[in-house]
Amino acid sequence: MTGNKLISEAKQDVQDHLVIATAYSGTVRIYAALTTKVVEMARLIHNTWPTATAALGRVLTGTLIMRAMDDQLNRLTVEFSGDGLLGRILAVSNQTGIVKGTVDNPQVDLDLNKAGKFDVSGALGKGYLAVIKDLGLKEPYQGIVPIQNGEIGEDLAYYFSKSEQTPSAVALGVLVKPDGAVKVAGGLIIQVMPGADEMVIRDLEAKLTGLPPLTQLLDDGVSTIGVAQCFGNSPEDVKVLAEKELAYQCDCSRERFRGPLLSLAPGEIDEIIQERGEVEVRCHFCNKLYHYQESEFER
Ligand SMILES: [Zn+2]
Repeated sequence: MTGNKLISEAKQDVQDHLVIATAYSGTVRIYAALTTKVVEMARLIHNTWPTATAALGRVLTGTLIMRAMDDQLNRLTVEFSGDGLLGRILAVSNQTGIVKGTVDNPQVDLDLNKAGKFDVSGALGKGYLAVIKDLGLKEPYQGIVPIQNGEIGEDLAYYFSKSEQTPSAVALGVLVKPDGAVKVAGGLIIQVMPGADEMVIRDLEAKLTGLPPLTQLLDDGVSTIGVAQCFGNSPEDVKVLAEKELAYQCDCSRERFRGPLLSLAPGEIDEIIQERGEVEVRCHFCNKLYHYQESEFER
């Protein structure tokens, strides 16, 4: 009992992070992330209900990992647009390790599905997944695929195989406590590099099916490196390339919102100011309110 208690107390103090490792002599890349605090922050900001917490948490976690795959990006945007109750889920990373996100309807909580898990698929519905990579060129790269099963992980795996020709296994999960707070959240993406043996893929698939769900491993106190080591030929075969801290952070500012306001037609601003005495803008990602007075719009 005492031992278990120690593990769970220690877990609370672990900073969210991502471990990037290789296995099978470098032909397989493993990304294992702990994102409990990121997802809990998103829940508190948006007041998400459990099914929405799971959906947004999976998208935020996937986005953090995808961002770390490509350090050269200026910005990575991952957007799930479904016809279900959740509406659109959006996650943006302007910097490796940092993410912000939003969901149209945060107050969604459906019954658990037949497998006893959050019915993210039912809450998201059918639609598309768009991945937008801003490389600082004139036009950003955009990959759009139809939503497959709406569980987020498999949809991202489908995107990797269709748009980036990289066979990948993706597991993203969020556990929620009875009071609605996030118990544990994390993600695992395994990618097979070009030239990998067919046997490697079959081997990895067998290892994946043989393991308990990722969130259960993390909740049991298994470290991200420990998770990555499950997918090597041996623990020594798994080589850690990098470890990165992860956080939910918004980078909005008064100035950033003022720009778009100035581009509104002069009449629109005047009308709002006449009605309310000021212009109020709320950031979709952090809920912060900005107030602008009439004098700030004089041109
Ligand atoms: Zn903000």
